[in-house]
Amino acid sequence: MSVPPDAIAQTAADLAHKTPQEVLAWALQTYGDDVSLATSFGAEDVVLIDMLAKIRSDARVFTLDTGRLPQETYDVIDAIQRKYPLLRLDILFPDHTEVEPMVQELGINLFYDSVANRKKCCYVRKVAPLNRALDGLAAWMTGLRRDQTSNRNAMAVVEWDGDRQIAKINPLIEWSYTQVWEYIRQNFVPYNALHERNYPSIGCAPCTRAVAEGEDLRAGRWWWEQSNQECGLHVRS
Ligand code: SF4
Repeated sequence: MSVPPDAIAQTAADLAHKTPQEVLAWALQTYGDDVSLATSFGAEDVVLIDMLAKIRSDARVFTLDTGRLPQETYDVIDAIQRKYPLLRLDILFPDHTEVEPMVQELGINLFYDSVANRKKCCYVRKVAPLNRALDGLAAWMTGLRRDQTSNRNAMAVVEWDGDRQIAKINPLIEWSYTQVWEYIRQNFVPYNALHERNYPSIGCAPCTRAVAEGEDLRAGRWWWEQSNQECGLHVRS
């Protein structure tokens, strides 16, 4: 069973006041093995992994190893795999036939040279592997929260991903950053050590910095660009 595109809005309204655990349980019941959680092992993602594993220990999860992740991210991946050994975690890598000519032509740190280069790198290392991960799925789940950036204001708990023609489920869309951390502490969930060093949002090592007191939570992502805090994974079609 799955939800047709024209029924997504009503489904989102029906689920709007459910807890994240209820939304996850609904997603697993509705989509079975055809739904997977996208994770970069940030604070929101580890909360969802813990919730998911408590509902179904062998739920599907995937992550994108861009080849440029911080060591702390590999450490939390390892900790999560040890704590939830039944979880079916797929780790997707970029296509070397795309990475090699890109860095040969534009340089190993091409992303600092122009927005176009940065978007190309994000496409090769993230978006193309994401599309591969989503191929064949009926739905994907994310740790997006509404107050992360203005781009995410219009997002709903369930929406139609028009680019990929599948449903997109955001169980934490109404949660605050404070709620995320309360859950992590209360449930002893492993988390990325960079969060302790003022990295609220963590991506690739060369494209993420710590934020100062009072700065936007995503201000440390691609900080040298003036306006863009998204990499293309969650841009609406
Ligand atoms: S975040 Fe930076 S290193 Fe990672 S894929 Fe995007 S541009 Fe490349």
